[in-house]
Amino acid sequence: MRCEKCGKERDVYELYSGEFVCVKCKKPITIKEFEITTENSEKFTLSEILFHEALQTLSRVDNSHQNAKLAHEKITKAVELCKQAALGGNPNALLRLAYYYETNHANVDNITAFKVACNYYERIWRNEFRGKTVSKSVYLRKIAARRHLDLLQNPPDQLRNGQNRSFDYDEKAGQMFSLGLLDEIPARRETSVPESDDSARITSLLNMSLHDGRTPLFGLMYVNGETFSDWANSRYRLGKKETSAIEYFTNRSELRLYLIHQNEMPCRITDKEFLQNNTIEPDDDYYLCFASSRNRRLVGYKKYLESEGMLPLAQLQRKASQTKNDYIFYPDDVLAFCNHWWESIPHATKDLVAHVLASVNKG
Ligand SMILES: [Zn+2]
Repeated sequence: MRCEKCGKERDVYELYSGEFVCVKCKKPITIKEFEITTENSEKFTLSEILFHEALQTLSRVDNSHQNAKLAHEKITKAVELCKQAALGGNPNALLRLAYYYETNHANVDNITAFKVACNYYERIWRNEFRGKTVSKSVYLRKIAARRHLDLLQNPPDQLRNGQNRSFDYDEKAGQMFSLGLLDEIPARRETSVPESDDSARITSLLNMSLHDGRTPLFGLMYVNGETFSDWANSRYRLGKKETSAIEYFTNRSELRLYLIHQNEMPCRITDKEFLQNNTIEPDDDYYLCFASSRNRRLVGYKKYLESEGMLPLAQLQRKASQTKNDYIFYPDDVLAFCNHWWESIPHATKDLVAHVLASVNKG
């Protein structure tokens, strides 16, 4: 993508907030103008074709592991091209990108995906993306508004009860209505929320963090005591062997787990005896912190967090606990804070956490 600051084509880092920054100068990639050009529509068309091919592959009767893998590769490529087209100023691609996040095709955890999708939809219907007008088409804005409202019907559990007004259905619907994007405010569907399995969410996130690539690096997840105990005891199949989740994940050298109980200091989870030696109160609030060293480029970040006794994460937890928010960071988040070639990864990690703390303070 073209960085206006460097004046060159550059790779980008994608941050936890859904922003993109230039790999070289670390400045946000700005969209020069929203306009459908030959270049961005070619990318967008190709990405659409790949996505449809992937869906076809998935719907084949002979659904094999190989097909699934092929489809996954196509989707990854489709999302990548769509990002390029969106940042190249194609408003339709931006709408599609939001949809990829909404439907969990963007390869991030579900809370991040939900936040980013909401953010993109809102920028389209408000018709303002960092000072730029997104689209002349009212139709496109109406689609974005509708999808955004649909999404707000069912926020992830962690965002459901928080006081975070960014995800308030009635407030957003009112604003859309006053902008003339809705003929009437649709009643919020009385959906019976399916009992979400929080312990499965923890397992899936930790599993992702054990893979290479753009996978969760470190962060904290809100859990209540009961969910934590459920998760820790849940049976985990590994080939023929069966272990408890806590046994499986604490046995790994590339993953560190800590538990924070209310506002106490993080306590390292070292082995399966953890539950026997610690009392978990079912109704209390906890945060599960994780730090993965799977990504070899980020040498030293985990050591830094641990040398501080996970204090940076404890500080984030103090903020997060007011809204029961989660914070999940990816390798790109740390790399984007390496402002100079000599800046160390631990220092960048420190800057990242300080930055997030400061932005939480602002609200
Ligand atoms: Zn640049």
